[in-house]
Amino acid sequence: MMQQFLRIKADHPNTLLFYRMGDFYELFFEDAEKAARLLNITLTKRGTSNGEPIKMAGVPYHSVDQYLARLVKLGESVAICEQIGDPATSKGPVERKVVRIITPGTLTDANLLPAREDKALLAIMPGRGLNNHKAGLAWIVLASGDCWLSECETAQLLSEIERLAPAEIVLPESLSQTLLRSATSPTPPAAWLTALQSSSIALSSIADWQFDEQRGLKKLTGLLGTQDLAGFDAADQTLSIAAAHGLLAYVDRTQGETASVLQSLRTFRPQQYLVLDAVARRNLELVTTLSGEASPTVFSVLDQCATSAGARLLRFWLQYPERAQSVAASRHACIDILQRTSDPTQVLLGNSIAQWIHQQLEGSADGERIATRVRMNSVRPRELIALLDLLDHAEKMHQVLTPILAQLGNPEHVDNTQAVSLLAQLNTQLTVPPEFARCLRHSLVPEPSANIRDGGVFARGFDADLDELRAIDENCGEFLLQMEAAERVKTGIANLKVGFNSVHGFFIEISQGQLDKVPLEYKRRQTLKNAERFITPELKIFEDKALSAKERALNREKLLYEQLVQDLQPFLPVLQQTARAIAQLDVLSNLALLARKEGWVAPQFVTQTGIEIRGGVHPVVKRQVERFIANDTVLNDRRSLAMITGPNMGGKSTFMRQTALIVLLAYVGSYVPAKSCILGPIDRIFTRIGAADDLAGGRSTFMVEMTEAAAILNAASPHSLVLMDEIGRGTSTFDGLSLAQAIAARLATQNRCLTLFATHYFELTLLAQQFENVFNQHLAAAETANKGIVFLHEVQDGPANQSYGLEVARLAGLPSPVIRQAKTILRRLEQQATHSEDQFDLFSSALGDSSAETSSEPEIPEVLSKLMERLANLNPDELSPKEALQALYELKQLQQEQIGKSGH
Ligand code: ATP
Repeated sequence: MMQQFLRIKADHPNTLLFYRMGDFYELFFEDAEKAARLLNITLTKRGTSNGEPIKMAGVPYHSVDQYLARLVKLGESVAICEQIGDPATSKGPVERKVVRIITPGTLTDANLLPAREDKALLAIMPGRGLNNHKAGLAWIVLASGDCWLSECETAQLLSEIERLAPAEIVLPESLSQTLLRSATSPTPPAAWLTALQSSSIALSSIADWQFDEQRGLKKLTGLLGTQDLAGFDAADQTLSIAAAHGLLAYVDRTQGETASVLQSLRTFRPQQYLVLDAVARRNLELVTTLSGEASPTVFSVLDQCATSAGARLLRFWLQYPERAQSVAASRHACIDILQRTSDPTQVLLGNSIAQWIHQQLEGSADGERIATRVRMNSVRPRELIALLDLLDHAEKMHQVLTPILAQLGNPEHVDNTQAVSLLAQLNTQLTVPPEFARCLRHSLVPEPSANIRDGGVFARGFDADLDELRAIDENCGEFLLQMEAAERVKTGIANLKVGFNSVHGFFIEISQGQLDKVPLEYKRRQTLKNAERFITPELKIFEDKALSAKERALNREKLLYEQLVQDLQPFLPVLQQTARAIAQLDVLSNLALLARKEGWVAPQFVTQTGIEIRGGVHPVVKRQVERFIANDTVLNDRRSLAMITGPNMGGKSTFMRQTALIVLLAYVGSYVPAKSCILGPIDRIFTRIGAADDLAGGRSTFMVEMTEAAAILNAASPHSLVLMDEIGRGTSTFDGLSLAQAIAARLATQNRCLTLFATHYFELTLLAQQFENVFNQHLAAAETANKGIVFLHEVQDGPANQSYGLEVARLAGLPSPVIRQAKTILRRLEQQATHSEDQFDLFSSALGDSSAETSSEPEIPEVLSKLMERLANLNPDELSPKEALQALYELKQLQQEQIGKSGH
């Protein structure tokens, strides 16, 4: 058995091998140690190998899913090795085989996957020779079968990977080797590769030759049944087609058959989408917060979808908003329609169409994932019943929506025929051929067992053989009673008993006193104290039949189930389409409900460059504050750069982020949190916000800041929205100020992008005098006598008159002596500045003198600071009563001195 284990393990060196032994999956050697540590299960020993005890750990087969889920979450891969031989007939160990490999990127099982999120498997093919600055990417979401191709500059690779957030990456073997040898190799691996190694994404590899364009082309066209890939816009995707072959080879290795996996192929072209780079996505907290939580994020606010397939589609829309305004505009029009309550059928009961759809879909099954599992022959019986239920709902929705949409299609009612026809198309896709449901309903019991191996799945009357086998099993007791009666008559033995025991099987029991009446055909089976047990040929035949009936019934059900799943295959394309239509209706209804609940408005698209948001709100921050102050954003080619000043905590970052989010939401197809919103074409959103080290990537805060700024200056167009928050803060004042000014000037004059530029360098407000498209705005604050600073969070025209930095520092709890000293220094600096001709000399003279300042002209009287110092050094808990009294005298003495000096 161990030899067999070692042979199989040799083929799966980097994977935990779950080795089936009876009712357990066992792990041995290092695998056992690792699993025991990760799963917190007992580590035991079994037998020896080379004189050493063999370490072993195991999990029961019936609860394996929960352990797999935990391992996969930790980024581990698991090979499931089953017994495929028959233990009864095997000589030596039963034959075993790895039947599937579970890796973080190849999950399709509902129990192992997050419901509202897709987990992609990505393969990367770095270019060689003339193409060495490029990389090909191919990724697939196995649970839906959607596959994508794309190519990017190697410099953009990490950003792309961050956007895709794959669960696992497949690399050519030679690249993985470079990583393993990196410590000893004279040439270090590429930066992106090193960064991947320290990320939490699982890395896998497959032979280099699998990353081959020709093979990829053949494989993809073969799977898709096409001549070439032109129809998928992939004719020029040489590197990513090579990556796709690596990807599919890896899927083959882990799943068995690729043919059943690939459902659709698309080419990702960044110019088709409103691209947010990795930094912007992180800063805007789209799907995770800056600290890595799932909430509160834009997605968590948006997602109230009734189904998990809807939630996944919404996440996709949020991550891939299309640049074409028509796509978003038709979604806006659909939202408008779904908010209506017109109801020729009287079923909405005063609800909007969206509300009604939401109610229908709530709690229904995940049609998309179930369809994939049908395709992969791994669907469970209960999933089929849940699918049936979903299709019933879809059919009902179709019945109700048809007259409603027909009425809306009437030109009197609707001004947007395009949206009505989109909804009508989705409505048509809700129906599935009735044979499909009939086939399932006719075959299955309404509440089948969870697994086909437990039987009890097929309905009575579906299969005569199965019914007969079940009847034998169920009628066993009846048969024995009948036989007992017949044998009693035949033999004349009144107390003859027919029975069963699990060791000896069926028997006829005759007591000692009656043995002389036993007929010849009775064969002795067992001797008891007062009786003998016999078997007859008739009973033996029944025994064979009865004992095997249960097992045969289970086998029969398994066979029938395989057949049923095969019979469902032709329906899959239409089923998949229905599942997608349901998801789309769910997302659109969700957006309609959200818009109504939150009072969001439909954005309006125009062709002129610009953004005009009135009464804009940050959808996430709004939920966290008592009263959110709405603000306007107006940017266009005449006013393209807003220089925003104002106090810390004034709301600059919130204002900038809300502008980006409103633009993004509009292009996603959602209504937006504003009073009104008019948007021109937008191609990208860039952000440079906040300070973060990238220590793993070996970049300091300032280096990160400048790298991001460089990316923006190189790529922002007049249609880009750029958010620049406090650029230049990561270095010395002079360097920072000069860089900030030069960057702002460049954005205003060369890039001419739509820019919100927040800064604490007041000197930059002068740029508005220099460039006509630069204008000043500030976040208002007021200083009150008793409350100190009050933030109004209101965006007003013109520069801020002061920064209130010291006030905010006081609010933050900086000790008062420090604040007072800072005030003195500030006054001094300001005096010098007013005497100075040149603004940029503002900081030049004074900073170095700050220590001299305190000693020559102390704001805090010397005696008072002595008093404070003495107090600070006192620790009441450590004082004896006598020392305490002494300390009190000293303090009193100091106070007297102060009165003596100041007169009060
Ligand atoms: P800093 O310069 O220190 O980064 P900031 O000016 O960028 O500060 P924000 O971080 O945008 O300020 O906002 C600070 C806090 O003020 C927010 O966390 C939020 O609680 C509140 N706030 C911001 N904008 C508004 C608003 N429009 N209405 C109400 N509260 C707001």
